[in-house]
Amino acid sequence: MAQNVIIFGPPGAGKGTQAVFLAEELKLAHVASGDLFREALSKQTKLGQLAKSFMDRGELVPDDVTIAMVMERLAKPDCAGGAILDGFPRTIDQAVALEKALSEKGYGITQVPYIKVSEETLLARLAGRWTCRNCGAIFHQLFGPPNEAGVCDECGGELFQRADDTPETQKHRIEVYFEQTSPLIEFFRDRNLLVEIDGEQSIEDVRLALLDAIAEMKSGGIS
Ligand code: AMP
Repeated sequence: MAQNVIIFGPPGAGKGTQAVFLAEELKLAHVASGDLFREALSKQTKLGQLAKSFMDRGELVPDDVTIAMVMERLAKPDCAGGAILDGFPRTIDQAVALEKALSEKGYGITQVPYIKVSEETLLARLAGRWTCRNCGAIFHQLFGPPNEAGVCDECGGELFQRADDTPETQKHRIEVYFEQTSPLIEFFRDRNLLVEIDGEQSIEDVRLALLDAIAEMKSGGIS
């Protein structure tokens, strides 16, 4: 049975960091829509250029384009056993499309851990975020600095600040989250899939809480 887990939460909640860890731990594919857009952008494809105009403004890329891109990714063989979805879905229409695609394969969304964080914490976290240009590892000026400034601990790659990590864009991304993405909380809650995780804890404690939530799900605790 494929396990399809959606890591849900606002931008800056720590979804990316935790999704990488969970995918490794559970041996599932990591499907991050933002990474797919950035990859398309670095390859200078049409999709990448289209996405850039939205990403730079902190807006969502239109649903049709986003859904098609993620569905193509989920059809790849490494997703056959399931995936950790990170950054997708971000709208009700995306969630409905995902449910439909999974149900056509006889699957469903297994669980939605929701990493809950206050707005002040989000802004503080997003402001100091640095990403590795080479492997995508994430560091933070205050909460998890690299050993050497500007250099990735994992692969030695160059660290950069994402164009959409500027203060104005961050603020807008958070507004967009509350307007367009947060209605999904009720959507998943109605389906009994939502498990709240306190995202104000340390990275390690969030990690443990996520593993607990998933273990509970496996033993049938949230059905
Ligand atoms: P992220 O890396 O998840 O923070 O995503 C970076 C940017 O990519 C977002 O601010 C959006 O512009 C775009 N993006 C990523 N995922 C989605 C999605 N599911 N729907 C629409 N736009 C998305």
